[in-house]
Amino acid sequence: MSWSRDCSNPPALDGACPSPARPQGRGTPWMKRAAGLVMSASALLVAVGAPAQAQPAEPQVLNLYSARHYQTDEALYADFTRQTGIRINRVDSDDAGILARLRTEGAASPADVILLVDAARLWRAEVDGLFQPLRSPLLEQKVPATLRGRDSGEGSQWFGFSTRARVVVYDKQAVKAADVDTYEELGDPKNRGRLCIRSGSHPYNLSLFGAMQEHLGPAATEAWLQGMVANMARPPKGGDTDQIRAVASGECKIAVTNTYYLARLMRSDKPEDRAVVERIGVSFPNQSSWGTHVNISGAALARHAKNRAAAVRFLEYLASDQAQIYFADGNNEWPVVSTVKPRNPALSAMGDFKAETVPVSVVGMNQVRIQQMLDRVGFK
Ligand code: FE
Repeated sequence: MSWSRDCSNPPALDGACPSPARPQGRGTPWMKRAAGLVMSASALLVAVGAPAQAQPAEPQVLNLYSARHYQTDEALYADFTRQTGIRINRVDSDDAGILARLRTEGAASPADVILLVDAARLWRAEVDGLFQPLRSPLLEQKVPATLRGRDSGEGSQWFGFSTRARVVVYDKQAVKAADVDTYEELGDPKNRGRLCIRSGSHPYNLSLFGAMQEHLGPAATEAWLQGMVANMARPPKGGDTDQIRAVASGECKIAVTNTYYLARLMRSDKPEDRAVVERIGVSFPNQSSWGTHVNISGAALARHAKNRAAAVRFLEYLASDQAQIYFADGNNEWPVVSTVKPRNPALSAMGDFKAETVPVSVVGMNQVRIQQMLDRVGFK
């Protein structure tokens, strides 16, 4: 792998970036451990008139709606339960599914904490009134203001807990690093027939494009999107990892991906993954201008949380050194807490970089307009 910029130090994201994007909805069925309606053993004892002192303490629970689709998060949840005794009932889905479910459930929703993986979705949920503000001196001290939701005086609506960058990978034998060191060049005629990218409507891309609109303005952004359509080596399909593999296989020469998918390949022991990594160069675009687009994963207190104390404890846990290390080492994301230094070799190899600082709320608001542009230019 080669790097189109100086990659030396681990990334420092303090004061960095807020930005956008969302994760996939792979339609994980509404699951597993729905909020429990099981009558507890202690309640039964009371019902039959057992002495009060015989009642065991009611176990504390937390109902978590999570759009994070990463196996490695299991360790994080288990660690929280080990530390606090609070059991987590988790409902997994994609961001859109979680928001739809919250709207349907209304005040009856058992959700206490909502964990989403795209800033634009966090913004949408905030605007739709699905969160409640939280005043937490600890979180305000640990999470940079640029990575928190709006504070209307009663606290922030949500908190970012990890970040990921949206970068360009390229076939280093066929493409010059200088041809892909800005996002603008993805739409330049010099890259005709070279580009692989997932669906334009995917939240990760909607957020990148929404941020671009802030930098370029609407007309130039639409022209840029049209340029990308003209440059595609194939119609958009698959996820980010598929785009990286398509560069390695020669199907395309340039692709767009989130860093954590790239880091997974970099840390893989499989010979086929190592071969992919050997073949590609990585560009953190726009280092000479506004910086590389960065997205966040964040969490919020649900509007109708019934287990508020447990929910606050969990949110504050997510900013602990241990949880931040889980994000970094488990899913190759950058911590938001500046004093936490990941030991992740892939993140270290990616080095320090300049991150864009477009307000999350703005990126969220741009989504509708971006989707209209995508429809007009035929970016599926
Ligand atoms: Fe993802």
